[in-house]
Amino acid sequence: MPLCDGLKVVRSAIHGYGVIATRPFAAGDLLLQGEGVVYRDEDEFDDTYCLVFDGDVLQPPVDEQIFYDLTCQSRWINHSCEPNTQVDSGWDAKLAHPIAWWIATRPIEVGEELTYDYAFTAEVAEPCGCGAKTCRGLIVDQDEIPNLTPEQQTKLRR
Ligand SMILES: [Zn+2]
Repeated sequence: MPLCDGLKVVRSAIHGYGVIATRPFAAGDLLLQGEGVVYRDEDEFDDTYCLVFDGDVLQPPVDEQIFYDLTCQSRWINHSCEPNTQVDSGWDAKLAHPIAWWIATRPIEVGEELTYDYAFTAEVAEPCGCGAKTCRGLIVDQDEIPNLTPEQQTKLRR
């Protein structure tokens, strides 16, 4: 896939590398489609930049997770508790391959960093340094908060 028009990978103020807009985007705009490689539980791979799918997307369904290791610019989009994009994903049953794309959830200005909510499960929640006013303190799905351990709960900001 060619580099996306209007996006650039830079050193991020949030963490490591990040992706910024080099032109304005409107709410609802498609920002980019992710490209990646599929891994199964038994494979050797690094899950740092993976989107995770439930195995019931496969036909027949499998009782394991499917990992989609992003290999394009999308892997550098950081988490924020107050994100300006959302990742939508689906499963191409014919190709047995995930598809994922990022949509602006509000207007994005030139120079603004793209973010989305990683929405980790409680099991893999980690401290968040996104800097948003509404930062939860942990990178974790809202719905997973009741499943956090007491020690993890102490890291929450409310
Ligand atoms: Zn945060």
